[in-house]
Amino acid sequence: MTERMLQFVHLPQQTPEKRPVSLRREDFDEIYRRFDQDAAARQSSRCSQCGVPFCSVHCPLSNNIPDWLKLTAEGRLEEAYEVSSATNNFPEICGRICPQDRLCEGNCVIEKGFESVTIGAVERYLTDTAFDRGWVRPGRPLHERPQSVGIIGAGPGGLAAADQLRRKGYQVHVYDRYDRVGGLMIYGIPGFKLEKPIVLRRWAQLAEAGIVFHLDTEIGREVTLGQLRARHDAVLIATGVYKPRDIGGPGAGLAGIVPALDYLTASNRAGLGDDVPGFESGALNAAGKRVVVIGGGDTAMDCVSTAVRQGAASVQCLYRRDRANMPGSLREVKNAEEEGVEFVWLSAPEAFLGDGTVSGVRAVRMHLGLPDASGRQSVEPVEGSHFTLRADLVIKALGFDPEDLPLAFGEKGLEVSRWGTLSIDHRSFMTSLPGVFAAGDIVRGASLVVWAIRDGRDAAEQMHAYIQQSSTVAVAAE
Ligand SMILES: Cc1cc2nc3c(=O)[nH]c(=O)nc-3n(C[C@H](O)[C@H](O)[C@H](O)COP(=O)(O)OP(=O)(O)OC[C@H]3O[C@@H](n4cnc5c(N)ncnc54)[C@H](O)[C@@H]3O)c2cc1C
Repeated sequence: MTERMLQFVHLPQQTPEKRPVSLRREDFDEIYRRFDQDAAARQSSRCSQCGVPFCSVHCPLSNNIPDWLKLTAEGRLEEAYEVSSATNNFPEICGRICPQDRLCEGNCVIEKGFESVTIGAVERYLTDTAFDRGWVRPGRPLHERPQSVGIIGAGPGGLAAADQLRRKGYQVHVYDRYDRVGGLMIYGIPGFKLEKPIVLRRWAQLAEAGIVFHLDTEIGREVTLGQLRARHDAVLIATGVYKPRDIGGPGAGLAGIVPALDYLTASNRAGLGDDVPGFESGALNAAGKRVVVIGGGDTAMDCVSTAVRQGAASVQCLYRRDRANMPGSLREVKNAEEEGVEFVWLSAPEAFLGDGTVSGVRAVRMHLGLPDASGRQSVEPVEGSHFTLRADLVIKALGFDPEDLPLAFGEKGLEVSRWGTLSIDHRSFMTSLPGVFAAGDIVRGASLVVWAIRDGRDAAEQMHAYIQQSSTVAVAAE
C-alpha cells in the first residue's frame, strides 16, 4: 500500500499493542506486539519530512530516519531496509531497546502538539520483515584481505566493529569469555525487552559471513593481550563494564542480597535452557519471595519485571530520587506498574535486617535539595522518617564500573581515565598501546547499545586506516 506523507494532522500516534498484563506476567516474551504492514505504513506517513530532521541529528548513528519512513509509507520495504541498515548493523535491536523517547522520537518536530512518529516500532517491523523475507544477508566481502584483527568482547560494540571489518575483507576473530555471543544483549537484557532468538539470529549471520568466534576464552586468563597483539594486525578492546557498585551499611553481607547482573544472568541462562545450578530453589530466583530492588536505572527496571515473571510474592523498587529524576525509562516504569510493581520513591536503604539471611530493609525517606555542580538536585535524608520493608530477596542495581583492565590484562602501559575507563585518542580510537583500539562501555562507562554500535563502527574505520597505513609503510621499507 502507498501512503502520502505529512499525515500527522489527521492520523494519531500509534504504538504497537501491548500484550495483556495477565499474559506478560507469565512469560518472558516481548511486551509489545509487532506492527502489521498497514500500521507501519500509516505511522510512517505521519512523518513531516522536515528540513532539518532532528530525529537523525539526535540518533547516535545518524540514521536517515525520514528517508526510510517515506519508503515504508510507500510500501517500498526492501529499499527502506537497505537505507536503515546502511547506518546501523543491528536495527532490529535498536528498534526494540533504544530509549527512543530520549533520542529520535523525543526530538521529532511533530512531537510538539501532535506526538512523535513511533520510529522504533517501524524500525523493528522493517528489520523483522527483512529477516522474514530473506533480505538480510551475511556481510561477506567481495575480496579477502590477508590481514587479521582480534576483537575482545562480543557485545554490540565488538560485533558492530567485527561486521564492518569483515565486510572490508579482514580475517576477523572475536574472543569472549562467555559461551554465547551478544554481551549484555544476551545475558543482561531480559527477553521481555529483547527476545533471545533475535540475538542468536544475528550471531548466526555474523558467523556465516566468516567471522571466527573464540568463546569461553577470557583474555588475561586463557590468552594474554600480548599474544593477541602478536597474532593480529590490530586489536579492539570492547569488554564493557561489569564491576557492580556495592552498598555498605549494617547487614550488607546477609544471604539473600544479590547483585543485579548475577540475578539477570541466571534468569536469562535459565530461559535459554541452560542448567543453572540451584536456580529452581536458589538465591537467584524470586519465586514466592518478597523482593526489594534498590536502584532507579534500566537494570533496576529489568530486575523488577523479571521478579514479577518469576512469580515473586511482591516486588518493590526503592529509589532515592523521584519518578521525574530517575535515569530509567519512564515507559518501563509504566509497564512495571501495570504488572504490579510498587515504586517507593525518595527512599534509600540504611540497613539490612535478618539473622544470617535477609528478612527486611530499613529505609529512610529522602528529599530533593539544591542542584549540585552537575545541575542535578542533591538528595538528603528526612530526619526521623525511618520505615521497614519486609524482604526475602534484595537485588542491588546501583550501576557498574570498569574492572581494572591494566591489571587484568597485565599491561601497565594501558592508560585509563580517573573513572577507570580506557583512555583513547578520540579521533583515532587508539589506546596508549600502538595498534590496540577500544570502543563501547569500556570507554564511555555504562551507556547504551546504540552508542556501542556507533563506537564499534567508528573504531573499525580507524583500525582499517591504521592497518592500511602500516602495510604501506612495511611495503615501502622492503
Ligand atoms: C540490565 C541491563 C539492561 C540494559 N538495558 C538497555 C536498554 O534497554 N537499552 C540500551 O540501549 N542499553 C541497555 N543497557 C546497556 C547496554 O547493554 C550496554 O551499553 C551495551 O551492551 C554495551 O556494549 P559493549 O559492547 O560495550 O559491552 P557488553 O555488551 O558488556 O559486551 C562486552 C563483552 O565483553 C566480554 N568480555 C569482558 N571481559 C572480557 C575478557 N577479559 N575476555 C573476553 N571477553 C570479555 C563480555 O563477556 C561481553 O560479552 C542495559 C544494560 C544492562 C546491564
